[in-house]
Amino acid sequence: MSNFNQLSLKLELNEILGDRKLENRPKIVAGNWKMHANLKDSQALIEDVGRFAKADANCKVIIIPPFTHIFPLSLIVEKNHYPLVMGAQNMYYEDKGAYTGEISPLMLVDLDIKYVLIGHSERRQLFNESNQIVNRKLQKALSHNLTPILCVGESLDEREAGLTDQVVKRQIVASLSTIDRESLANKFIVAYEPVWAIGTGQVCQANEANRVINLIRFTLSQHFKTKDNDTLFGDSIPILYGGSVKGSNAKELAVQPDIDGALVGGSSLIAPDFCEIIKAFS
Ligand code: PEP
Repeated sequence: MSNFNQLSLKLELNEILGDRKLENRPKIVAGNWKMHANLKDSQALIEDVGRFAKADANCKVIIIPPFTHIFPLSLIVEKNHYPLVMGAQNMYYEDKGAYTGEISPLMLVDLDIKYVLIGHSERRQLFNESNQIVNRKLQKALSHNLTPILCVGESLDEREAGLTDQVVKRQIVASLSTIDRESLANKFIVAYEPVWAIGTGQVCQANEANRVINLIRFTLSQHFKTKDNDTLFGDSIPILYGGSVKGSNAKELAVQPDIDGALVGGSSLIAPDFCEIIKAFS
């Protein structure tokens, strides 16, 4: 069998089997606080989550508050040695300049931020972020050694029209069009977030979320495959599910072989619920 046929067979098997523990991917739970919580409430929240998170837990916990809270919350994390890391909800694709209201990746680096959400559906829908803009932001984040969490997912109309796979594949391929696989090594996370499940209480069925995440792995492997290299790139990338994850549904998502963690909105503002989610993925 030729190398090419072997690779195709392996990729097909991947799609069918789903459970591929070829790579030891980290577990990650990220809390996107969006534009919620004043400083006082956010300090109490991070204390509650910080006390719960275990330093030796098998799960990385990323807290993604509004920009204005990042620095004061980082001080609390540092002072108490909480096993939490901070992330940002967005960044601009230029380093500096006359861009009123934008945040430079260098400003995130200055605060020792390692993670940044790119292409969240609220940015795409409410602020017209196209795949091209997402691509520029990804490129810029990577160039500064930030780890982007690339968000992809279909709308309700797209799902109902049977376009889920097509939309998600296009978002992945277009966002990564100018990016090489070496620059993503160990600093790239994807979050599959069906838009219809975000903030609606309507969680995607766990096996369906797993199927789409498996497709994302396949798409990444296909996109980055090289002639002489049959390793499955998609298997090395942590991929999270996001969309109405709660303490009560986290376990069924956590047991799925392709789901490496959760990107959590609403429930990340409720310490007991968020801690329950961390427990499910630990
Ligand atoms: C999100 O904002 O990324 C999200 C998944 O929100 P929620 O958990 O509230 O659906």
